[in-house]
Amino acid sequence: MVLPAACLFDLDGLLLDTEPLHARAWQQAARHFGRELTPEELMALRGRRRLDCADQVRGWIAAAGGPALSAAELLAVRQPIAEALLVQAPPMPGAPELVEHCHAVGLPMALATSSSREAVALKAAPHPWLARIGVRVHGDDPELERGKPAPDVFLLAARRLGVAATDCWAFEDSPAGAAAAAAAGCRVHVLPPPHLDGPALERSYPGEPTLLSNLHQVIRALEAAP
Ligand SMILES: [Mg+2]
Repeated sequence: MVLPAACLFDLDGLLLDTEPLHARAWQQAARHFGRELTPEELMALRGRRRLDCADQVRGWIAAAGGPALSAAELLAVRQPIAEALLVQAPPMPGAPELVEHCHAVGLPMALATSSSREAVALKAAPHPWLARIGVRVHGDDPELERGKPAPDVFLLAARRLGVAATDCWAFEDSPAGAAAAAAAGCRVHVLPPPHLDGPALERSYPGEPTLLSNLHQVIRALEAAP
């Protein structure tokens, strides 16, 4: 695998261990309206923009005979829970080392996240190493049309770096994000959540991504690439 022109990083569940916290916040909000979310439903929310998730969850609540909520009514319950949890999110193992490695060898990086600018600022504040990634596409970016699983986030990130998306390595944890990166033509690397394995893992990600067991592996792959 030749050296990429750039690395495009997802944030939640890839660089920061926020996904269990996001899931807990959606679960508590849905439960508030009488609907318990299944592990499969929580997995389907992973990697997507907050408003896209809110539309999905309020649909599930209504379909189960719960109240017909607006996205704003659901988020009024969900956001305070999420914000209190997310400021405590630790890095994923190896994430600070990988970002520092790319910086040290001059490999361009961009953040390609569904999270809003405000949410990223909140989560990133305790993690100065994330400041190494200066080029960012947020879920509420004015130039962004469609969220993941559409390819737009990765295409825009590559364009801002001045490289072709097809020459980039993309790093994702979610099926929606991996689909977005594959559709953009990136070489996709997936760090699957620990509970996914065997056939469920095979089914979850499109194409033939490189499956990672940790991010330290990526440093070794970059060092080995010609
Ligand atoms: Mg993610």
